[in-house]
Amino acid sequence: MAKDEFDVCVIGTGAGGGVMIDQLTAAGMRVVALERGAQLTNADFMRDDELENVVRDTLFSPHQLETFRASEDVKAEPGRYSQIAHCVGGTLTHWAAWSWRFRPDEFELLSKEGPVDGASLADWPIGYDEMEPFYEKAEWDFGIAGDARGNPFAGPRKKGFPNPPHPERVGAQRFAAGARKLGYTPFPVPVAINSQAYGGRPRCMYGGACRSYGCPIHAKATTY
Ligand code: SF4
Repeated sequence: MAKDEFDVCVIGTGAGGGVMIDQLTAAGMRVVALERGAQLTNADFMRDDELENVVRDTLFSPHQLETFRASEDVKAEPGRYSQIAHCVGGTLTHWAAWSWRFRPDEFELLSKEGPVDGASLADWPIGYDEMEPFYEKAEWDFGIAGDARGNPFAGPRKKGFPNPPHPERVGAQRFAAGARKLGYTPFPVPVAINSQAYGGRPRCMYGGACRSYGCPIHAKATTY
């Protein structure tokens, strides 16, 4: 039997591996990806079943596959320790799609905040300015919806978001009004969910079942 040959094997198809597969195949490489769990379909995501998705953790690892030990002297115990999805697309399948950039000062915590006893705090070897073009590419590839001028604490950016922010619901409007009265500066969280048709994907239908669920119409950006 003939064997397929590949240039690269990527293990994991979520936020890290999935993005690498995209970049490597775009560069002409033959890539094989390994992932634990099933290739779920839109039909799987159509069921906004809270019991199935949130309580029984359908998308996550079977509990016996996760282990944890508090120290090297004790036995590892199986249990529920994380919400790492167990399917093609990895945890981007059920993420809530919040898409923040680090602030410039977050790359220099040691320099800005000083040493902390007992901690190995360090500055990153790269800074915000070096990362900025890559943040921009990721935002435009994933179709982030947000208000580029809304967050006064964000680092400088050369380009806005590709999609406008989502409309505020009544609760958000009231919360924002109250926060402003108290002197705060509320702004819409940037999310990788289409507020308009973008990238061959439709706009969100506002069913609200994003986190812990897959998006049945692909309004939420993922790698699956
Ligand atoms: S349509 Fe919108 S609300 Fe529904 S799962 Fe997709 S992104 Fe979330």
